[in-house]
Amino acid sequence: MNLTLALIGNPNCGKTTLFNQLTGSNQHVGNFPGVTVDKKEGSVRSHPGVTVVDLPGIYSLSPYTSEEVVSRDFLLHEHPAGVINIVDATTLERNLYLTLQLLELRIPTVLALNMMDEVRENGGTIDVAAMEQELGIPVVPISASRGEGVEELCARAVRAAQEKQLPRRIDFCAGDVHRAIHSISHLIEQKAELAGVPVRFAASKLAEGDSLMADTLGLTQNERQLLALVVEEMENSHGMDCEAAMADMRYTFIEGLCAKTVVRPGDTKEQRRSVEIDKLLTHKIWAIPVFVGIMLTVFFLTFGVIGPFLNSIMEALLSVISAGLAGALRDLGINPTLQSLVLDGAFAGVSSVLSFLPTIVTLFFFLSLLEDSGYMARVAFVTDRLLRRIGLSGRSFVPLLIGFGCSVPAIMATRTLASERDRKMTIRLTPFMSCSAKLPIYSVFTLAFFPEHRALVMMALYFGGMFVGVLYGLLLKRTVFSGSPIPFVMELPAYRLPSPKSVLLHMWEKAKDFLIKAFTIIFLASLVVWVLQSFDFGFNPVSDSGQSMLASIGRTLAPVFIPLGFSDWRAATALVTGLSAKEAVVSTLSVLLGAGEGAELTLLLQQLFTPLQATSFLVFTLLYMPCVAAMAAVKRELGGWRAALSLMVQQTAVAWVMALLVYQLGRVLGLG
Ligand code: GDP
Ligand code: MG
Repeated sequence: MNLTLALIGNPNCGKTTLFNQLTGSNQHVGNFPGVTVDKKEGSVRSHPGVTVVDLPGIYSLSPYTSEEVVSRDFLLHEHPAGVINIVDATTLERNLYLTLQLLELRIPTVLALNMMDEVRENGGTIDVAAMEQELGIPVVPISASRGEGVEELCARAVRAAQEKQLPRRIDFCAGDVHRAIHSISHLIEQKAELAGVPVRFAASKLAEGDSLMADTLGLTQNERQLLALVVEEMENSHGMDCEAAMADMRYTFIEGLCAKTVVRPGDTKEQRRSVEIDKLLTHKIWAIPVFVGIMLTVFFLTFGVIGPFLNSIMEALLSVISAGLAGALRDLGINPTLQSLVLDGAFAGVSSVLSFLPTIVTLFFFLSLLEDSGYMARVAFVTDRLLRRIGLSGRSFVPLLIGFGCSVPAIMATRTLASERDRKMTIRLTPFMSCSAKLPIYSVFTLAFFPEHRALVMMALYFGGMFVGVLYGLLLKRTVFSGSPIPFVMELPAYRLPSPKSVLLHMWEKAKDFLIKAFTIIFLASLVVWVLQSFDFGFNPVSDSGQSMLASIGRTLAPVFIPLGFSDWRAATALVTGLSAKEAVVSTLSVLLGAGEGAELTLLLQQLFTPLQATSFLVFTLLYMPCVAAMAAVKRELGGWRAALSLMVQQTAVAWVMALLVYQLGRVLGLG
């Protein structure tokens, strides 16, 4: 048995939660519309051979946004055996709008009424049997997050797909719209069959004025004229334009259906609570200060309270391992060069990065709380006004926010932006959002130079990045990207208590990414750095790393940084290796300065930099060009190396100038 089921529904109705339940996988769930951009596949645990595909959330099957195109193309061209249409039962009317369009596709479909827990707790009920009767498809109430009804849903979807149970009803129209759709159906029947598009679906889309459909079917000039006449007739007798007439037809049916089957609890408790909370959190004046306050608290807790504590435990653990490893190597009588390679190269590099793992996981714990509760969606809403000033809309907030985690998925997430202009501009601004790979750098430097004010300096760096991003955005708006962003409409999801499982998943995902990077890129980079700093160009071992290959390379680059205050070749080298992955800045410094067995990286750094030089170095690392993985993503999304290269050069130039300003200003002020 090999079956594919498509999972489809409005944004934020619980598709990914259901997908994870069905497949046991850990896709990102967020209380945030627009999280799933691409389709994701997984096999259903309880039914071997059955694959489900999580599609982006959409409101209709028109081809206007990239989410709609991905989902529509999948349904039309990949011919899934069945569709699971998941709807948020607390906002059924809006969700069923998509359902009516799906039914026209003539694919075995099962309706999943999700969030039944909320409906129930607020005293609502839904007459499932009556709804099945009216819609002509199986209807299963579920709660995806609690796993209730998921098995039943899965069994019924598989059965419907296997037995090819087509929806029993596709005709939801009456009056003039009814006449129009049926005339169009007759007109295009053959063309639709030839093109492999369900006749009824094609007819509805044509009645809506979807010109893409006319092209897909290859309608002749005559047919188009006939079609236009039919549509005009419908518009005249209905007194609305065609799209409105179709929407009116669907909503009329949905209203009738809900009147028969749904006992409405009124606004749910969650919705009423959300309205109350939003009075403060999206307040005209207070929203931004509250946001800054919340972020400050998060940073303070992460870097001032919890992080250092966990950090010290991790360091203790790592030094025990280090001592054990050193002992073991000595006892085995391993060659001293190899010992040094393992201890001073690989282990020193990897462990310098690993020791910050708990801090990063802690930060992501707080961020996923904020996201899962629905707060981040409010921030997107609030920042719309601000983003408009730099020529973007709140829609860009999602990718920018993801950018604080990692630029690669952030740059990919810009695909949700409908306008090319918004997309290109957002891609250029994403790298200014300080990614989590830079956290180990900030952590170790603030520990060494500003132990009293770590959270504050950290905040300053994050907001500094954003600030420079805003300036850069303003510049782009004035020059390359004039014009205005497309209007932004975003639904605010109800505030929800974050589910522990989803929060844990976020943390684990972050930790996993971090661990994988530490043991692959950082590991390799540390080995390479160790080799390059231990030998000269003739591959003779050097006693002083200042004579090594790496020193020669670093020294050719170092003069560039003299005006910025750090001319040491080791700092220059660390910046270069940081291009493989930003964490490598720390691992490289740690290998080069000989941190390991007892020697503290922070102490060694204090000898390398003055606080002012360190600040300048931090500003440079904050802003300079992104790592190779991010550059590859930029190249892919902007469609070429030229654009990627120009971004690289511009960013590095901005970084250089800002670091220069910081250092020279600091000197003038007599700070170092
Ligand atoms: P998607 O955008 O459709 O993929 O939706 P997600 O799976 O990301 O879920 C959106 C939000 O709804 C998340 O905060 C989930 O925790 C929440 N959610 C999903 N299913 C349920 C449910 O059955 N009951 C409740 N109360 N919340 C749910
Ligand atoms: Mg999703």
